[in-house]
Amino acid sequence: MFEIVVLSGKGGTGKTSLTAAFAQLAQPAVICDLDVDAPDLHMLLKPEILRTESFQSGHEAVIRPEDCTNCGTCGEMCRFDAVIPGDDAPAIDPLHCEGCKVCVTFCPANAIDWQLRTCGEWYHSETRFGRMVHAQLYPAQENSGRLVALLREQAKELARQRQIPLILSDGPPGIGCPVISSLSGASFAVIVTEPTPSGRHDLARIVELCAHFKVPVGVIVNKHDLSPARTAEIVADCKAKGLFLLGQVPFSPEVTEAMVAGRTIIEHNQGPLAQQVKEIWSNLSTHIKNAQAA
Ligand code: SF4
Ligand code: SF4
Repeated sequence: MFEIVVLSGKGGTGKTSLTAAFAQLAQPAVICDLDVDAPDLHMLLKPEILRTESFQSGHEAVIRPEDCTNCGTCGEMCRFDAVIPGDDAPAIDPLHCEGCKVCVTFCPANAIDWQLRTCGEWYHSETRFGRMVHAQLYPAQENSGRLVALLREQAKELARQRQIPLILSDGPPGIGCPVISSLSGASFAVIVTEPTPSGRHDLARIVELCAHFKVPVGVIVNKHDLSPARTAEIVADCKAKGLFLLGQVPFSPEVTEAMVAGRTIIEHNQGPLAQQVKEIWSNLSTHIKNAQAA
């Protein structure tokens, strides 16, 4: 089973548009959206949800008003101002509760439950390009790294059950915990960058991370024509570091138009733009076959 994760230094580089186009070209593949903090692959693939599960992580304190004597101890002890006073009983603001358990421990009436925190949902879905695993983390919830790990396990299980040899994931942006969780043990990382100083800098940081996890890297320069000089610098960096340059994509308003229309670049454009994306996928496929044969 080969697992490709598409990454970028920040959001808005075209990572998701390219992943959706690759999903169209890669069939059969299990598609996975690992950008759980801001998922948007579903806008292009319009998944039909077949199964919904809660994602629970950590604990939260919840007051039982019927047992509370409104003594005020929890409010006095909470260091995070999470306890909201009330006429009959206080309530706990889940967005401020840090889950330290102090109020639960010191409540004289034993009126505070310590329950699993539901942080989001994850889904198995069907799309026009095959099965998809994705999720939605609720606002202000953390532990997205754990949710990413869970989605990857689900995608692998699905691929095993259906004997699908490829998992294609839209990874999170940046180099934080969710990226580490999406990268460790992956077969190949596709990094989408732009010809800007920050794009070059971000690329260097992700490449370092990939090297740490021993994940081979391929690079795509998106909007390359906006700065040929910066593109040349990135190409030179790739050569110097022995990175595989998968290809370059020109700037085109059609990428945004396709996203608004809920279509992939290839569905939306039959011209040179689509051709370039197909060539990139062809380069990637050849590279994968060679890597598997080696
Ligand atoms: S410490 Fe317990 S009894 Fe006192 S106000 Fe808080 S929940 Fe109610
Ligand atoms: S668990 Fe900790 S942070 Fe949350 S309300 Fe109780 S004392 Fe405050």
